[in-house]
Amino acid sequence: MSTNMLTVSCVTPGNLSLEQRERPVPGPGEVLLRIRRVGVCGTDLHIFSGNQPYLQYPRVMGHEIAAVVEWSPAGSRLSAGDVVYVMPYIACGHCVACRQGKTNCCVSLQVLGVHRDGALAEYLALPEAYVHKAEGVTLDQAAMVEFLAIGAHAIRRADVQAGQRVLVVGAGPIGMAAMIFAQLRGASVTALDTRADRLAFCERELGIARSVAIGPDDVQALSAQTDGEFFDVVFDATGNAKAIERGFGFVAHAGQYVLISIVRDNITFSDPEFHKRETTLLGSRNATTEDFETVLQAMRAGRVPTDALNTHRLKFTELPEKFPSLLDPAQGVVKAIVEI
Ligand SMILES: [Zn+2]
Ligand SMILES: [Zn+2]
Repeated sequence: MSTNMLTVSCVTPGNLSLEQRERPVPGPGEVLLRIRRVGVCGTDLHIFSGNQPYLQYPRVMGHEIAAVVEWSPAGSRLSAGDVVYVMPYIACGHCVACRQGKTNCCVSLQVLGVHRDGALAEYLALPEAYVHKAEGVTLDQAAMVEFLAIGAHAIRRADVQAGQRVLVVGAGPIGMAAMIFAQLRGASVTALDTRADRLAFCERELGIARSVAIGPDDVQALSAQTDGEFFDVVFDATGNAKAIERGFGFVAHAGQYVLISIVRDNITFSDPEFHKRETTLLGSRNATTEDFETVLQAMRAGRVPTDALNTHRLKFTELPEKFPSLLDPAQGVVKAIVEI
């Protein structure tokens, strides 16, 4: 039996290469996974483009992972053949955040495929604690749990209630995930983005009732939708500092503003405007097991349009050639899934 495996490594920005590597040997407490599907994320596009701060190359990307257990140790809750998804956030377990169960914002968090090598490989060995059975969902769906969980986490952070008016700024995959889980809680959701094709997708595929294109009349449109009161909860999923700053103005008095995306810049806001609203400002980072469970339940209930979200498929071996096309907005990519 060969002990080699294929991986796709991002050798330098803009350069992916198919490589033979040693198949990993699971250490104590680890299981060996045969990787089957990997979702491509905005983070991966940043790594590929060289825009991910403090990243060391070469790097094997891939943190949206569906796999089949190849081998598990005696006494494990997992058995060979189980379909699983992976929690890709490796937390220390003892820092101030971890002690409160908030492993999503661990002081020394390491994300698979970002800070250490990820799943664009045939095999991956991981501590069992990060591997969970994906019962009742397909491999494709299992590969979509992670990005959806980030949206579900943001909705839980704000504790969105039925009937609340919610604005999601940024209609990329994470913004869409927030829209889906806000709607499942009975909120009335508006999408705001620059791209007409993305807004049309949200209305058509996610059933979002209202969308507004960013432009000279957007404030007026948002005001008209809410009788001039604006939104009980605003989510930012833009990754754009100017958009984040603008979003403060879309929060209703007594409302909440949740920043899901991250930018490298400082952001500023008007303190009198912030204060008079008594705005609640929240960061939302990654997700926890609870959010992953929320997503799985919604998927099993058929309440997540995963077929529509999965707009593109790629074969593992064609990644070096085809990956760059995912960066082209004309391709209309929402979620691309790599088959391994
Ligand atoms: Zn991701
Ligand atoms: Zn920690």
